[in-house]
Amino acid sequence: MDRPFPTWHRMDMQRFEAIAPFKAYLRAHQNQGLRIGLVPTMGALHEGHLSLVAKAKEAGADVVAASVFVNPKQFGPGEDLDKYPRDLEGDAAKLAEAGCDAIFYPTPKMMYPAGFQSEVLVEKATGVLCGANRPGHFAGVTTVVMKLFGIARPDLAVFGEKDFQQLSVLRIMARDLNLDVEVVGAPLVRDEDGVALSSRNQLLSPKERTEAQAIHRGLRAAKDAYEAGERSADSLLNTAREVMQSAGLEPQYLELRSYQDLTALERADSPAVIFTAVPLGPTRLIDNMILSRA
Ligand code: AMP
Repeated sequence: MDRPFPTWHRMDMQRFEAIAPFKAYLRAHQNQGLRIGLVPTMGALHEGHLSLVAKAKEAGADVVAASVFVNPKQFGPGEDLDKYPRDLEGDAAKLAEAGCDAIFYPTPKMMYPAGFQSEVLVEKATGVLCGANRPGHFAGVTTVVMKLFGIARPDLAVFGEKDFQQLSVLRIMARDLNLDVEVVGAPLVRDEDGVALSSRNQLLSPKERTEAQAIHRGLRAAKDAYEAGERSADSLLNTAREVMQSAGLEPQYLELRSYQDLTALERADSPAVIFTAVPLGPTRLIDNMILSRA
């Protein structure tokens, strides 16, 4: 028999554009003793984002709210803010299907009204990798996430290991500022061909999409070398670089750093991650490979 509605959740998911009713909805649930899980996103959602909704439930959230907000403060001049893909209706349908309870999609004016003048800054961990190449980016991220935490007051918030540095920075922020939010990491989700799922993949031409496969191939080759016993950063990184370069890609950075605190490593004797960013066509893709976890 045809189902009149795709899922029960699709009918049931609450949609909030304004801050006050979203707050009121969450407070009502909190007052009943329910745990709130928050999944912040910039939309154009894919399976990677939806895995965060599942992770929030797994981590103990009774109510999961996802935010969709393309945060202008985390884009620098000349970056891809205007080109960034947007699909609110598609996002709402996917979140409902994934069992999300509420979607919050404020406008930039609601988040940053006239007179807004605050900023949250995490220092050391934002000076490297993407932070060194995108000045102001992480201040934009920490400021908007702090705002989202202030609005939603979640018990837990889920972020993907796809943006490993972001996850580390947000963990530091939550610890340093005594926020009562458990920052939960979720594994990086890849496409069948190895490419890390990213909303920015939509900006690639078919040829660039094929070239993008070399990013994961390079990282995988380094991990294979690691698993075979190689520990030298230079050697591991050269292995990855050669694969990328032979596909015509030139990483903006390719580095071995500590899993725990992002400090640079010369050897992968302790828990370590390889990080890379690769300019490709109109955009720039980031990826990483965890060699060993803490
Ligand atoms: P974004 O919409 O790109 O800002 O991402 C929102 C959240 O989804 C962040 O916590 C990302 O780390 C996470 N995310 C994005 N892509 C992936 C992926 N391929 N696998 C896991 N998490 C992801």
